[in-house]
Amino acid sequence: MTRTKLLGTTLAMGVVAVLLAACKPTFPAGSTLATSGLGPLVTITWPTIDVDTDKVVTEYRIDVDGSEIARVSAATRSCVVVGLPKGTTSTISVTAYDSAAQWSGDQATGIISATYAPPSTGSGSGTAKSCVPTTDTDGDRLPNAVETNGGTYQHAGATASNPNLADTDGDGIKDGDEVLGTTAGLDLPAMGANPVKKNLAMEFDWFDDNAEPGTCSAHSHRPTAGMIAKVATAYSTAPVSNPDGTTGISLIADYGQGGAFTGGNLIADADGVIAGGVGGTDFTAYKSANFASNRAGIFHYVLMPHRYNTTSTSSGQAEINGNDMIVSLYCYGSDQNVANTVVHENGHNLGLRHGGNVDTNYKPNYNSVMNYQYQFPGIDTNCTVPGDGLLSYSVGARASLNENALIETDGICSGVDVDWNANSVIDAAAVSVDINQDGGKSVLSDYNDWANINLAAVTNAGASPFGPEVVTEQPVPVSAQG
Ligand SMILES: [Zn+2]
Ligand SMILES: [Zn+2]
Repeated sequence: MTRTKLLGTTLAMGVVAVLLAACKPTFPAGSTLATSGLGPLVTITWPTIDVDTDKVVTEYRIDVDGSEIARVSAATRSCVVVGLPKGTTSTISVTAYDSAAQWSGDQATGIISATYAPPSTGSGSGTAKSCVPTTDTDGDRLPNAVETNGGTYQHAGATASNPNLADTDGDGIKDGDEVLGTTAGLDLPAMGANPVKKNLAMEFDWFDDNAEPGTCSAHSHRPTAGMIAKVATAYSTAPVSNPDGTTGISLIADYGQGGAFTGGNLIADADGVIAGGVGGTDFTAYKSANFASNRAGIFHYVLMPHRYNTTSTSSGQAEINGNDMIVSLYCYGSDQNVANTVVHENGHNLGLRHGGNVDTNYKPNYNSVMNYQYQFPGIDTNCTVPGDGLLSYSVGARASLNENALIETDGICSGVDVDWNANSVIDAAAVSVDINQDGGKSVLSDYNDWANINLAAVTNAGASPFGPEVVTEQPVPVSAQG
């Protein structure tokens, strides 16, 4: 109204050009620049700016700390700022141009501003400042413009992830959560999460105890850096391909080692022994008290007591296709035993069974740490049957073995003889032996564990009468004691 009246007066005075030039775009009184933080990025939203009735807005201009970073069309009133420095407060301003090429920004009423400070952790969003469209086709909270779809992850301004896939690397964690942190405040970027390379996240809580002074001295079940390194290597060397062209799975392990990893902790318990197992009252209470709720669906939870079920000699328990496990090695917690058992129990969480896709145990040609034959000694690397210390799941490369007609000169691989019937002779004729001692003879098959693990199973809810199936393990074998 004011503008129309002013315009009329102006025309009467015959100084049109002078006063039109003075009527620059102006934001309505009380206008604010709204910000919505996306970790290293921030979405800004502004109201329509007012212009004279004979003009239109042609574009909005975005500045950061007084320097122009982008212009967007007049139809746009929201965009995502990229390239702000980590851990530093930046001032973001929006101004406008009208169809008379007048800029609003040299008058206070033509500028709206807000501040934003990206987290100091994580990989930031690069140094190229821009304000990109908010369009997010796959709903992973990353604007399409930063999902550069190919190559290696750079930072939140160039993620290499696919704008049409919410979980580009298929690890069960959405691209936006891996790049920006979760909406529940879990700082996955600070932990090294990557949207184009598979991650596997595990939290370890442990007990200290002196439960069996006759067998072992006072000790802690806290993971050691050496044990964690063995687990990390087992996954990092996996023959699993990633969108960024690498192979392997990158472990995110929290055993309270500091930095971004403060979730793993000692659990105070008089004897280090818990009643019940996975999903039992003690397990549930300890998990509830020690596992941050914003890790649910992302982290596997590993409880490391001395024993569970009070007097059980079981080395562990785990959900199949789930997120919960117990590793309980009482007096036999060497790095190798613990690492192998962690990878075994986690294999159950990832959907594997003692025979891969079946429960059939001790198949000599199922060359996986999931097989009891190879859990503690590690898998076979020289075709002689006994394990050789390599901690891994199976690649499914071994030929089937027909227990009704075993060829000893074929062995399990590479033609290395195996004396299946233990008669101290490599028989020329086929022999019939129940080699996995399960009371019957059948065709035993290998299984490609690595091609079939389900990293997204971590999203399955914890054990309950209606939750995942739970596997209970054998005692630590005598060969692994000491
Ligand atoms: Zn113990
Ligand atoms: Zn098992």
